[in-house]
Amino acid sequence: MNRYNRQRTRMIDTQLLGRGISDERVSKAMAAVPRHLFVDEGLQDQAYSDSPLPIGSRQTISQPYIVALMTEALELRGTEKVLEIGTGCGYQTAILAELAERVLSIERIASLAFRAQRTLDSLGYYNILIRVGDGTYGWTEEAPFDAIITTAGAPKIPETLTGQLAVGGKLIIPVGDRSSQTLVKVTRLSEEPDDLKTEDLCGCRFVALIGEYGWKD
Ligand code: SAH
Repeated sequence: MNRYNRQRTRMIDTQLLGRGISDERVSKAMAAVPRHLFVDEGLQDQAYSDSPLPIGSRQTISQPYIVALMTEALELRGTEKVLEIGTGCGYQTAILAELAERVLSIERIASLAFRAQRTLDSLGYYNILIRVGDGTYGWTEEAPFDAIITTAGAPKIPETLTGQLAVGGKLIIPVGDRSSQTLVKVTRLSEEPDDLKTEDLCGCRFVALIGEYGWKD
């Protein structure tokens, strides 16, 4: 077993299972994806540490536990069409691609989107489509989605996103001020666009969601 495999196994035991991540599909997906290949070479030794890391353009790859928690909350079973907002380095995208049928992902910074696309192509993920743009509009042509995940913090829940959920679909989004947020899970209960159940999952700190229905740059 090489060094990174060992570090990845330890990450899963201590950071995920040790803290209550119980969906085996999620821990298996995180065991399958080589997280160190999503960060710069100089940071690969820290890829499995219990923290976020810089990925360039003042953005970060989320802490492994947060990736697991958000993914678990989506309750994916393998047949879903998922929208991700904030591709970043593409690590969360890969985890979603392991667990759902198709993943569409939007990133506002073109250089990050291109690098994520290259990494994901090199790992052989063919069920992912990445687009450069403002994800706060969602992806109207591809809606509705069984799951939507936003990996940047919003001032409030964009109605554009809840409006693109399928009935029974789930949106996970950090909501709060620019420095700290609450991770919120919204479930669409019926055809009525505002028939939504909202639950708070935990406190969190994400970079800002910048766009028309997010923060202004
Ligand atoms: N899941 C990513 C997290 C990256 S940080 C990872 O693990 O690498 C959040 C990302 O959201 C940043 O790359 C940022 O550029 C992007 N972002 C912020 N606002 C956005 C918007 N309106 N649309 C699309 N992407 C956005």
